[in-house]
Amino acid sequence: MNALYQIDHAKCPAGHLTPLQPSTSQSTADYQRQIGTGGDPILVVCVRCSRVYRVHELYSYQSKRGLLPDDPTTPLRVFVEPIECDGEPHTIPLTVRGVRNENSKVADLKMGWKWAEGEDSKCPFGDEIQLPQYVGGPII
Ligand SMILES: [Zn+2]
Ligand SMILES: [Zn+2]
Repeated sequence: MNALYQIDHAKCPAGHLTPLQPSTSQSTADYQRQIGTGGDPILVVCVRCSRVYRVHELYSYQSKRGLLPDDPTTPLRVFVEPIECDGEPHTIPLTVRGVRNENSKVADLKMGWKWAEGEDSKCPFGDEIQLPQYVGGPII
């Protein structure tokens, strides 16, 4: 019998859920506050369609699969990947959050990243945010 995990998810414009972090009584409120401050955007790449989008709300659901390290049997690993804006280097580091399977590489996943339609692709200073260029070799 599998344990159930309570996980905070982000939802892409197509409605796909991407698990981000274990839900605690504090996590959703803290995250929501961070989103509400309007500072650095919280960007997530959809685990299903690879669209990159800004998180506006978190959804807490029970899941049979947890995230590391809470669930040692899960293949799901959270990653945080830095990205750059077009303007001056800014003090706020911009990142894309997502999850990958244990046997996939972020470098390979990046090939498919694209901005969600209608998504604001500008940093808080108004610069265009470049999604990472794929620079790896062929997928082995
Ligand atoms: Zn999606
Ligand atoms: Zn910028």
